[in-house]
Amino acid sequence: MSATAETAGASEAGAVAAAAAALSHARPEAILAYAFEHYRRVALSTAFGPEGCALIHMACAIAPPVAVFTVDTGYLFPESVALQERFAERYPITLSVFESDLSLVEQARIHGPRLYERDPDLCCALRKVEPTARALRGIDAWIAGLRRDQGQSRAGLAVLERYAHDDGTPLVKVNPLASWSRADTFRYLLEHDVPYNPLLDEGYPSIGCQPCTAPVSAEGAERAGRWGGRKQECGIHTFLDRKE
Ligand code: SF4
Repeated sequence: MSATAETAGASEAGAVAAAAAALSHARPEAILAYAFEHYRRVALSTAFGPEGCALIHMACAIAPPVAVFTVDTGYLFPESVALQERFAERYPITLSVFESDLSLVEQARIHGPRLYERDPDLCCALRKVEPTARALRGIDAWIAGLRRDQGQSRAGLAVLERYAHDDGTPLVKVNPLASWSRADTFRYLLEHDVPYNPLLDEGYPSIGCQPCTAPVSAEGAERAGRWGGRKQECGIHTFLDRKE
């Protein structure tokens, strides 16, 4: 790396760290406003869970039209697809739907049927992670709806996190809801009359692909119904190496 590139990298790292510290107790709207003000190519990713729905509502009030991307694995619940369409009609968003390069038929031919049962990590890599990596190309700031209290794997979440694209250009991940609870999220949805997935009221506290999502008892952990407890993350929030 040249001395100039090193200096630019250090200065970018310092700016993100300072902003993350300044915004660590800020309201989600202030964190979103920072992202839209400081980055040119900003995109919000969501699977239309309650957090993503809340963020779309907030972001559209701050900087419409909002670029939103989602991944259709081919295994989504019909309720999730219908919700996407509802948001596209109701909100000023440009919705991009990314899919795996492999159709479900091709995947079954190459890897065998019901890959999600035998190797869910590979299935998620093909159907979720690769399309997400493609969606992020050219993006400066990636807004996501993660919360620290969603589980151990998310406990260390910062409001702003530094990553890099393959070519070394910076990518900042923005987590406006990092300090929110599930109750905070639902309070916001109800107070602002934001649409949400009806399955959330039918015992599904976290909704992913149909074969890997089960209802959870009232006492169960939020993500206990995902992958039958065999894994915690699909990989879209862990495939990039975070930079300090
Ligand atoms: Fe495949 Fe299940 Fe991952 Fe969806 S959640 S991509 S069906 S393993």
